[in-house]
Amino acid sequence: MNCIETNRLSYRYGKHETVLQDLNMAVPQGAIYGFLGPNGAGKTTTLRLLLGLLRKQEGSITLFGQSLDTDRISILRKTGAMIETPSLYAQLTAKENLQVLQKIYQCPVNRIAEVLNIVGLAHTGAKKAGQFSLGMKQRLGIAIALLHNPALLVLDEPTNGLDPAGILEIRALLKQLNKEQGMTILISSHLLTEIERVATHAGIIHNGQLKFQGRLDELQQRQAQSAATGYLTSNPEETRKLMMAKGFVPVVMPDGQVIVPVTARETIAMLNAQLQEQNIAIYQVSTIRNDLESIFINLTQN
Ligand code: ATP
Repeated sequence: MNCIETNRLSYRYGKHETVLQDLNMAVPQGAIYGFLGPNGAGKTTTLRLLLGLLRKQEGSITLFGQSLDTDRISILRKTGAMIETPSLYAQLTAKENLQVLQKIYQCPVNRIAEVLNIVGLAHTGAKKAGQFSLGMKQRLGIAIALLHNPALLVLDEPTNGLDPAGILEIRALLKQLNKEQGMTILISSHLLTEIERVATHAGIIHNGQLKFQGRLDELQQRQAQSAATGYLTSNPEETRKLMMAKGFVPVVMPDGQVIVPVTARETIAMLNAQLQEQNIAIYQVSTIRNDLESIFINLTQN
């Protein structure tokens, strides 16, 4: 079952600029779904729509199998979110910040200590939130989102501005929440490396349109399919001509390496034999993989 589903979701600010176009998003229950896209792609707008923070214009939004139009309160009771920077009371401690919200949400008092433990802020004592580091503020924001024990957590760029240690901490926290509590997590980012290490699923958005959606391993499969073979030989130009004669389209790199888009063993063996026949010495044959980053860039290029 999908925890989140949108059908032909479109949105425009003002009269003209269409920011989202026919978005069919599907976040499976229990997934960590990485919502990826460059700056301005429409991620925050989508997340705001999913949470009812922006009024929907076209299409439909379903969370937990319920329509956001008719069951908004029931949906939000099961959803925790942090969109952009967390809103904190700078003059209050972590615990006091949570106490204010515990009263509003009317959740059990002991949940405060629980969430402080989960995000690793249990020992911050009298320190005011205004004096927290960026990472601590983000973690307090996540603690607030977790206070009412949601089944779905929506986080907009939660590691923005964090140092590598802070990023690792958030990543570990998300994995733990997903594994131990089966929480579905939707996390947006403009960095593929960020998502690659934590997500089970990914959606790639560019100019308001989904360019890819599926399991992360499907994205990795695309990576494998786009692999090539690089030849370092005694005569790059003759190597290139020979490849062309065999019907392939090679590229000669500045270092003389000839890259040909084949990966099948039999084809490589055939090319090796042909090169040897022409008395071209083969120094090195290597597999060249596109990293996921270049696939992401290809998907999000105009
Ligand atoms: P970022 O990572 O930079 O936050 P994003 O993917 O979250 O990017 P959005 O914030 O959803 O993208 O913005 C998508 C587009 O909508 C951008 O072109 C932006 O300029 C525009 N936009 C966002 N908010 C408004 C607004 N309140 N009024 C008009 N245009 C807006």
